Amino acid sequence: AAGVPDVPDLDASKVTITETKDLKTLPDPETLVFGATTSDYMLTCAFDPATGWGTPEIKPYAPIPVDPMSSALQYATNIFEGMKAYLGPDGEPRLFRPDMNMARLARSANRVALPPFNTEELVKLIKTLVNLEKRWIPTLEGYTLYIRPTIIGTRAGFGVAASDSSLLYIILAPSGPYFRTGGSKPLSLMTVEDCVRAWPGGTGDHKLGMNYSPGFNATRLAVQKGYDQILWMLGDVITEAGAMNFFVVLKSESGEGWDVVTPMLDGTILPGVTRASCLELAAAHGEKPIFDDLPPLRAVERKLRKGDVKQWLAEGRFLEAFVCGTAVALAPVGRIGFDGEDVVFPKFEGGLGPVGGAFRRRILDIQYGRVPFSNWSVPC
Ligand code: PMP
Repeated sequence: AAGVPDVPDLDASKVTITETKDLKTLPDPETLVFGATTSDYMLTCAFDPATGWGTPEIKPYAPIPVDPMSSALQYATNIFEGMKAYLGPDGEPRLFRPDMNMARLARSANRVALPPFNTEELVKLIKTLVNLEKRWIPTLEGYTLYIRPTIIGTRAGFGVAASDSSLLYIILAPSGPYFRTGGSKPLSLMTVEDCVRAWPGGTGDHKLGMNYSPGFNATRLAVQKGYDQILWMLGDVITEAGAMNFFVVLKSESGEGWDVVTPMLDGTILPGVTRASCLELAAAHGEKPIFDDLPPLRAVERKLRKGDVKQWLAEGRFLEAFVCGTAVALAPVGRIGFDGEDVVFPKFEGGLGPVGGAFRRRILDIQYGRVPFSNWSVPC
């Protein structure tokens, strides 16, 4: 690529493993808090502009030395992915569509001028690390090992320019089900006027660390007001909910079948792997039924306005709303506070409506390797 030095690429076959006998005690699954516990090992690999990607090293989890002047700390050259390893009925770990996460990470790297890398080699490295850390995936329904591949700019210098050196690392965190009580409690979302997550030409469609912290204060205020998450808006246009993609299901205008609607990828939406999977399931069912109890579905990506949701509710066409992402899979939305006025959605037993429920079951079945479905589930 232009501006990229011709130096060695990431090479999974060069990986070295430094084992430790000093292994941690596994946490009690009952008390597991998402993202609070890390596993025994991590993987690191440095990029140097003169020598390219170096030796990938798997070694005991430990702090990493970072220069106080580093690009990541000064200018937020800091990108990541969020994936999970799921234990199948055969006791073997699986990844869910890792090629999509890797493609997104590569796009994020390009957005902030971090060096490119071979995405297939990175999947191999993730598999090697997950296999080594298999004991960290609890053998309980709904439990997974969360995987956080990260790349930071390590150039030490105040020059406002691309970081020519960087560090790739992968860390793992065992995680429990998003909803402990089984079923899923509908989420409440609140819109805010004075704080925007993404805008045309911005970075909202990439997974950059800098996209998240500007939303922390608004989210804290929403929680103080009794809501679970922010529904991010751009004027009266709905974009996303927290760090999840937003869907509405409604009766088609023609009266035949249902539309599965989500905001189109216009540069302000993070292209979620779960979002893509929901759209693909809807489209597949539209062509040839794959869900017994659902009418024909149509996958619709469009601009979604606050007024649309209110209108569909008033017309009786609105069926259900849900959010989706790697952490939660799918969760129902029960209420949205639009400018201080609550819009309340129909309630369903178990939380999700018929479409969200069917998609959630199917996606979890694929993730845990309980049903074969194309090549979405990838053994480690
Ligand atoms: N939106 C945002 C802003 C996110 O950070 C995420 C999590 N990556 C998602 C949506 C959901 O994406 P995915 O389904 O790939 O986890």
